[in-house]
Amino acid sequence: MSVLISSLEVKDIRFPTSLEGHGSDAMLLFATETFAMGVNMPARTVVFDTIRKHDGKSPRNLLPGEYIQMAGRAGRRGLDTTGLVIILCKGDVPEISDLQAMMQGKPTHLESRFRLTYTMILNLLTVAVIRVEDVMKRSFAEFHTRKDSHQQEVELKTLSKQVESIKKVSCYLCQEDLQEYYNTCKTLNELRYALQWTSITHSQIKALSIGRVVVVNTEKHVHALGVVLSLYAANRHSKFKTLVICDKQSQDRNSQSNEVPARKLKVKMVLKTNLYQPEGICWHDVVELVASDVYEITSKTLDVNAEKILSDWNTRQIPRFRDKAVSQYTSVVVQELLRLTEDNPEGLPALNPVKDLKIQDMDFVEKFIKMQSLQEKVTDYKCLMCQALNQHFAEHDYNMELKEKVKVLYYQLSEESLLLLPEYHQRIQVLEKLNFIDNKMSLQLKGRVGCEISHHELILTELIFEFFCRKS
Ligand SMILES: [Zn+2]
Repeated sequence: MSVLISSLEVKDIRFPTSLEGHGSDAMLLFATETFAMGVNMPARTVVFDTIRKHDGKSPRNLLPGEYIQMAGRAGRRGLDTTGLVIILCKGDVPEISDLQAMMQGKPTHLESRFRLTYTMILNLLTVAVIRVEDVMKRSFAEFHTRKDSHQQEVELKTLSKQVESIKKVSCYLCQEDLQEYYNTCKTLNELRYALQWTSITHSQIKALSIGRVVVVNTEKHVHALGVVLSLYAANRHSKFKTLVICDKQSQDRNSQSNEVPARKLKVKMVLKTNLYQPEGICWHDVVELVASDVYEITSKTLDVNAEKILSDWNTRQIPRFRDKAVSQYTSVVVQELLRLTEDNPEGLPALNPVKDLKIQDMDFVEKFIKMQSLQEKVTDYKCLMCQALNQHFAEHDYNMELKEKVKVLYYQLSEESLLLLPEYHQRIQVLEKLNFIDNKMSLQLKGRVGCEISHHELILTELIFEFFCRKS
């Protein structure tokens, strides 16, 4: 048995050589932290003499990252099934919370120190075979965006093939202007959402307050009136409860059916539809919505007792209370919503953010006017007469999503997406302006001088040239 005592730094070139000779039969190795952290030296068991260290300022426990680095050496690949880590308790037993923080704590976030420097750029420009873009691609800074690049390439290939095989819709009406109609719908949805968002988050008037009547547009409830029942926290994923009117029979059917829902459209169709009117007995549903499920915020509010309605609804969700009579609070609101629907089949006046909320922001008003004009136009498309518009629209939507995916992947794989690219371009501009390089990116005299300087290369080069210019 041989015992090696390592008090040397890893930098010491003799150390690994001396270790090699003993490598096979080294039973025990005392190592410094530097060694344990830095050299690939697997062991069966790792013993910590202490978990405290002095970091130059004060003594502290090992950080999770440091601990993992060293403890991770336990267990040799192909030789041991498990590795053992022992912590010596020379004085007191360490606190369990300290151990937990050290062993299971979040490792320190590694941050790339890769910086583009002028010297680096100048030096790389002298080597024709290495491009600065390639160096950036391989840097740790780009690691997170580039680590899936192989998978992305495969995906891009398959998707591109699919895109190539897309056929034009074989429908004479949709051929006319489905594309334009689709784009208008997309713009309208985006505008509507952006405007609604501003109204919803408006500081003075909370447009989505309890009792506000809204037009709901989800897969289940199309263009149906509803009333907001719970407070809305202004964030995009926040959900709020809404009571929506529906048909009793279809509601019963829905709760039983196990149908696989159709693919969700990326762009919702904008149609001039009347408000949903229940055919049979008017019933209600309480749903959780996100802001984008609201098609329109109307100017109408109802006086509701949200708490009572919700507790009534929740009770009736329990199977044995399913047939319990609907409470007065609920039925009054449902009747009121039905009456509003019948009185205004084409829809209730929408909350006008410019007039009602007095939002005067220029950008906002512009968007609002654009939306109104698009809304008038949206009913004029020829494809709207197509009997199979729903199907054709869905097909087109699917194809557009494919194309979009290809575009995104293409961008991610391209050099355009490099995080450091803008900085690189800026630096190139500076170098060109200062005559370090010419407009074809070949090095000039100043550039060649700059190559040799590693700190403050631009200032020093400029000073050197200034000095020589004055002298001559
Ligand atoms: Zn068609």
